Amino acid sequence: MIPKILLIYTGGTIGMVKDPDTAALKAFDFKTLLERIPELKLLDCDIDTISFDDPIDSSNMNPKYWKQIATIIEDNYNAFDGFVVLHGSDTMSYSASALSFMLENLAKPVIFTGSQLPIGDLRTDAKENLITSIQMASLQHYGKPMIKEVGLYFEYKLYRGNRTTKINAEHFEAFESLNYPHLAESGVHLNVNKEALFKPNTRKKLIIRKELDDNIAILKLFPGITESVLKSFFSNPELKGVILETYGAGNCTTEAWFLNMLKEAVQKGIHIINVTQCSGGSVIMGQYDTSTKLKSIGIISGKDITTEAATAKLMYMLGEKIQAKSFKTIFETSLRGEMT
Ligand code: ASP
Repeated sequence: MIPKILLIYTGGTIGMVKDPDTAALKAFDFKTLLERIPELKLLDCDIDTISFDDPIDSSNMNPKYWKQIATIIEDNYNAFDGFVVLHGSDTMSYSASALSFMLENLAKPVIFTGSQLPIGDLRTDAKENLITSIQMASLQHYGKPMIKEVGLYFEYKLYRGNRTTKINAEHFEAFESLNYPHLAESGVHLNVNKEALFKPNTRKKLIIRKELDDNIAILKLFPGITESVLKSFFSNPELKGVILETYGAGNCTTEAWFLNMLKEAVQKGIHIINVTQCSGGSVIMGQYDTSTKLKSIGIISGKDITTEAATAKLMYMLGEKIQAKSFKTIFETSLRGEMT
């Protein structure tokens, strides 16, 4: 039996056209998109499509849309062998990360892809990205999907979705996964790095986790950050979690006002995750004196997680109402291959 693939169109450059009046790119009808790629009919799989009623630029992405994508996958999970999500590249890493947490015990491929140039553009990267993503989602081994996780395919590489970051707004090679090997590469052949693939417990049933709590913030440290600005930041009564982007291997200023403010926030029940500002590498609290204090006041180590995946994991864990006493241990545990 040939694999059945569901294409889910959420928006993004891949399906955009130039507005003749303003020259700005905006989303257009998905059906027209498929007419522009007759090659899809040559693929060795059955393709069905579904689209957001109003496709969006992914800069407008939010948890409400993540629930919509998760619901589409839930409703069609048994009828399809794999899913390809067409999505703008700007926030694709956040969405791929979010879906990886929302789809617990996923045993089929969910591949995010998009493009830097619209599908109608002469030099577009959209066709290769779309066609190969569908092929990746169709890969089977003894009649079962080979990829059983949320991936992101862009410019000849398949990455684990929750390990990616958009690194370039210009190059076709827009993404990278600096802390985890590529899952597959597309050359003359599709080369799958089987060792790197996520191996879920396939005896467990898919559980869709739709409760996400977005009362969180990302705080990027910089030399000169002031006490008064941070005071107003932490005084927000809705704040439940913070991704603290620190320097290097998880280091920060050791000024007393700063450490006291973090300590008070932790004591109030705000979960603070230490994530490095560097694109690659890991937080190692205690390696330098400038991170030892963070460890002692109960800051959670994000290890080598990306900011995108940390954001999604924090929303997911708060949504699941994980108890305060186990929050740190669970966050520091890899749930979907998002940290080493
Ligand atoms: N602004 C677009 C978006 O993220 C860029 C893209 O599709 O690559 O929706």
